[in-house]
Amino acid sequence: MTTSTSPTSSSSPLAERLAAVREGVADAARAAGRSPEELTTIVVTKFHPASLVRDLAALGVRDVGENRHQEAQEKAAELADLDLRWHFVGQLQGKKARQVRRYASVIHSVDRPSLVDALRMDDVPDLDVFVQLNLTDDPGRGGVADGDLEPLVEHVLAAGGLRLLGVMAVAPLDEEPARAFERVRLASERVRRLAPDAAAISAGMSQDYREAVAAGATHLRIGTAITGNRPSLR
Ligand SMILES: *Cc1c(COP(=O)(O)O)cnc(C)c1O
Repeated sequence: MTTSTSPTSSSSPLAERLAAVREGVADAARAAGRSPEELTTIVVTKFHPASLVRDLAALGVRDVGENRHQEAQEKAAELADLDLRWHFVGQLQGKKARQVRRYASVIHSVDRPSLVDALRMDDVPDLDVFVQLNLTDDPGRGGVADGDLEPLVEHVLAAGGLRLLGVMAVAPLDEEPARAFERVRLASERVRRLAPDAAAISAGMSQDYREAVAAGATHLRIGTAITGNRPSLR
């Protein structure tokens, strides 16, 4: 039997990794007594060329994630012919906020009131956002400190023009993912007390998405398990 190596053939390494992750996500959902349909898998394509995103789109991927504005902007422009939803998952400077709004469907990293204000725009449809919770004590990691979560949520709700989907977090390297995601689940309950519709949880990456699904994640941000190793930092 001959096997094709075209990137979008079902037997390409990319297609195989994507299928394996889709299967892993579905298994994790069933193990948690949840339906796989409740879950959105965002493929994080940072550092990879636009051509890889195009191959993913040909394999049925619609939701892609990026963490740096300039790179994301370039890829979104190059792939404007595709029906992709761009998720911005990285730390965002206020002065770049409006530019990110032009191509991003969802921003996962709203972590301070000044960024909320910078994202506000009149005469455009509401923007979907997550508030990012910092699970570490290091402010440099991005995300709002636990004690400032409620005030930030209230600021988003009062600002107008932003639709709060829920809470986002990255599990710390030095904590059991299951424990970290339990903290995220509790934070999600606090968010829902203020915004009952903001029930989504963006959590879970290549190494810990199973634990995230078990803790109630609705949006998984998965990079290397699907894309393969990232090309080295530019
Ligand atoms: C890079 C990145 C991911 C994906 O990480 P992998 O370990 O490659 O799955 C998810 N979320 C954020 C915020 C990221 O920066």
